[in-house]
Amino acid sequence: MQHLLNLSNNDLLAWLKERKHPTFRASQIWQWIFQKRVASFQEMENLPKQLRQDLTESFTIWSTTIAKKTVATDQTQKLLLTHHDGGQTESVLLFEKNRRTICVSSQVGCAMGCLFCASGLDGVDRNLTQGEILEQMLLLQRLLPDDERLSHIVMMGMGEPLANLSHVLGALTVANDPDRLGIGTRRITISTVGIPASIVKMADYPLAFQLAVSLHAPNEALRDRLVPVNKNIGLSKILAAVDQYYEKTRRQITFEYVLLSDINDHTSHAKELVSILRPRNAMLNVIPYNPVAGLPYQSPSKQRLAHFKGILTEAGITLKVRHRKGDEINAACGQLRRNNAQTQKKELYSIEGEKSPERKSP
Ligand code: SAH
Repeated sequence: MQHLLNLSNNDLLAWLKERKHPTFRASQIWQWIFQKRVASFQEMENLPKQLRQDLTESFTIWSTTIAKKTVATDQTQKLLLTHHDGGQTESVLLFEKNRRTICVSSQVGCAMGCLFCASGLDGVDRNLTQGEILEQMLLLQRLLPDDERLSHIVMMGMGEPLANLSHVLGALTVANDPDRLGIGTRRITISTVGIPASIVKMADYPLAFQLAVSLHAPNEALRDRLVPVNKNIGLSKILAAVDQYYEKTRRQITFEYVLLSDINDHTSHAKELVSILRPRNAMLNVIPYNPVAGLPYQSPSKQRLAHFKGILTEAGITLKVRHRKGDEINAACGQLRRNNAQTQKKELYSIEGEKSPERKSP
């Protein structure tokens, strides 16, 4: 059985031809799944019985199950998903005025090892397939009332999207297709730790998605510490690739900066950031650290945040503070999976009557 969502439109057309079904059925099939939100081929009422039967015998639409669903008081909904091999990822639906934004994962775990992030604490298991990425979008879409549509996608869930570029671009191209989710490229953001070769490939891709680069430090020494993969890459190569992306696409670049109290929020850091941002058509997304259980970092106080922000805005930098959403449901990706795994471990240990193991220190 193949996962239907891994097929390109051409793959589906070829399959239809092979079985002597007319090719106009392809767009009907996609519309049933992506727009009319059906759960099975049997519900595709305008398809002949034989075609529905053939589809059911050849393909599955769903390869993932919902292990847990949580809803926060601000309406944010988060899904913990279990994939066919037992790997787990997280996906989030955020409500903000008329925006319905989804935050989607690209890998099971993450290899980047950013010190403050829950997703990478246990390393990476594997890349998600194009179908598994799309399936998250469909599961989140089905949490919406019938008359509401998904409006924005951010690849800011678990994993490093640019370490799984072809599947991510494949899934986002489908999401952009008017026959399917129909979400414009300006409403789709790929967030990356900064992998220059992949950023250059993105620049040559026919669709220009919004690019967000997780900077978190304004100089090599601090970034090497907070984002360990930086040691093998380096800020200057990342910035050169980002400039190339801007030259080709003319899309304003977003830089993300997780603010960690007394680590990367000093006056000197803000000034260094100004010198990176000022020459570029860029904006800064400041994200106060969302505490992860067991990690030693702290969110900055209101005063520290205001001071940091003040230096940048005075220097004319466009800046947004991303206020936390869905706090009480562990909406920073990786946390729900981690808590779930630890609860399961605890249960296992209490069944066996042993002491649970100490958490390894970060
Ligand atoms: N690998 C991609 C996507 C990661 S998640 C990237 O690095 O951009 C999206 C953003 O959330 C990243 O900027 C990431 O650094 C940030 N993030 C991770 N853990 C966080 C935490 N505990 N609090 C706030 N932001 C966090």
